Amino acid sequence: MKEFAIIDDFFKSRSYQRKDVILGIGDDCALTQVPEGQSLAITTDTLVSGVHFLPDDPADAIAHKAIAANLSDLAAMGAEPAWLSLSLSLPDADPVWLDAFSNKIKELTDYYSLQLIGGDTVRGALTVTITAQGFVPEGQGLTRSQAKPGDWLYVTGNLGDAALGLDIALGKVSANQNHQVTLLRALHYPTARLLAGTLLRRVANACIDISDGLLADLGHILKASNCGANVYIERLPLSKAMLETVDSEQARRYALNGGDDYELLFSVSEEQKGSLDTVLSNYNVAATCIGQLTGSANKINLQLDGQVYRHQGKGYEHFA
Ligand code: ADP
Ligand code: MG
Repeated sequence: MKEFAIIDDFFKSRSYQRKDVILGIGDDCALTQVPEGQSLAITTDTLVSGVHFLPDDPADAIAHKAIAANLSDLAAMGAEPAWLSLSLSLPDADPVWLDAFSNKIKELTDYYSLQLIGGDTVRGALTVTITAQGFVPEGQGLTRSQAKPGDWLYVTGNLGDAALGLDIALGKVSANQNHQVTLLRALHYPTARLLAGTLLRRVANACIDISDGLLADLGHILKASNCGANVYIERLPLSKAMLETVDSEQARRYALNGGDDYELLFSVSEEQKGSLDTVLSNYNVAATCIGQLTGSANKINLQLDGQVYRHQGKGYEHFA
C-alpha cells in the first residue's frame, strides 16, 4: 500500500466531523476555530514499540493507549478534547494491522466527538505520536504549580493495575482468569479521567495525571508548587484484582511506582473539600484522599498506620 492510499483508506474517510474544523485531512494544514473565551490546550505523546508497548501488542490496544495518554494530559488540565493529529511510523503497510488500528481511532473519536484533523505517515520503526488539542475556559486551566501546604491530596480510581498487568503480560506474575482480564485491560485500554478533570476546574488547586507512577508524578506537583507531602499508605486505592493477585507489600509497590495508571492526582484546600465531595458524588466519580501537603519542599513522607514507611524506587524515567 502506498502512503496516500493508507491516509485515504484508513484515516481520512473514517473520521468523525466537527463543526469547529474548517478544513480537515487533505491539505497542507488543518484549519480550526477555537471558541471564544476558551484557551487552547495542546499536548503530544509518543509511544515507541518496545518502550511503551510490546511489539506484538494488539494494534487496537496501541491506538487506544496512544489516545488515552494524550486525553489524560488534557484531563489533567481540566480541558475538553476536540482535535487529534496522528504521526505514524510503520515498518510495513500491513492492511490488517492498519484496519484494527484505525477502527479503534474511529471508535474513540466517535465516542468522544473528536476529529482526526491531520498527521504524517512514514516508514520506520513502529512509533505512534498523537497530538491532542482541547479547550479550557480562560483562566480555569489546572496546573501543577498551585498546590498549597495543608491541601488534601486525592487520586481518582485505583493505582498500580496497569503495572501489574504489564508483569502479567511479561509472564512474571500469574493471576486467575478474571483478574488477568481486568489487569490486562488496565494495561492496554486505560481510560482518561476527562469528566473528573472538568469537575476539578473550580475546586482543585493543582492537578497532574499519573503516567510515570504516583511518587514520580507527585514529585512534579511538589517541585512546581514548592511543597512536601505526607502520604498515608494504608489509604492507597487498590483493586480487588490487585489485592487477590499479589501480597499487600507488592501491591503498595505497584501503586507507588507503577506507570500507565492515567489516574488524576490533585490537591484541594480544606475550604474546597466539601464542594469536592459534593461534585464527585453528584457525578459518581471515585476519588480517594491519600495524604496532605506540607511546607517541607520536595519531601515525601510515607506513613503506614502512623509509622514511617520505608520504600525504594521512584517511578519511570527515560534516560535514567
Ligand atoms: P504534507 O506533505 O503537506 O505534510 P502529507 O502528504 O504528509 O502532507 O499528508 C497529506 C494529508 O494527510 C495532510 O492533510 C496530513 O495532515 C494528512 N495525514 C497524513 N498522514 C496522516 C495520518 N496518519 N493520520 C491522519 N492524517 C494524516
Ligand atoms: Mg508529510
